[in-house]
Amino acid sequence: MTVAVYPGTFDPLTCGHMDIIERAAALVDKLMVGVYEHPAKQPFFSLEQRVKLVEEAVTGLSNVHVKAFAGLAVDFVRAAGGKVMIRGLRANSDFEREFEMALMNRKLAPDIELLCLMTSSQYQFLSSTLIKEVSKLGGCLEGMVPDHVALALKEKFSMPTGLAINKSKV
Ligand code: ADP
Repeated sequence: MTVAVYPGTFDPLTCGHMDIIERAAALVDKLMVGVYEHPAKQPFFSLEQRVKLVEEAVTGLSNVHVKAFAGLAVDFVRAAGGKVMIRGLRANSDFEREFEMALMNRKLAPDIELLCLMTSSQYQFLSSTLIKEVSKLGGCLEGMVPDHVALALKEKFSMPTGLAINKSKV
């Protein structure tokens, strides 16, 4: 059985991520989406919220599972019983970073293979950072994030600052 793991921050999940998830899921028996805690990045959505948003998006994909993780991605891949790590590639800037990370991961875990999937052209310029920016300014996110993610962003941005941090329901 081929198990692959797609780790990321998913703050929040976009249609670019979903495209990678769907295409990777078609290649392997089981795909585990690992939602990285990433305290250094101070994510906009809590870990629980990010996991929930991904879970809701993958309900129709029977071989896709979602789990939160902290620590090294390669350790998470191993713990999930995976031999393959999936990443998505957009522009040159992604390549540099992914290449650097891949070489480090190869050093740490030579038994795990990296599989990078190129973005689909319509998602080339899509990033979670840009999505948050557009949402904050009231822009329409149709076709860029799943509907429930657009709703979660709208709700979060409409909350007074203090409440946005405390209210964990999306
Ligand atoms: P990280 O902080 O680990 O980069 P992200 O959630 O930003 O987490 O991205 C997770 C993975 O998804 C990365 O490999 C990233 O390059 C990829 N990715 C992000 N957006 C897209 C997109 N629009 N198309 C293809 N891959 C993407």
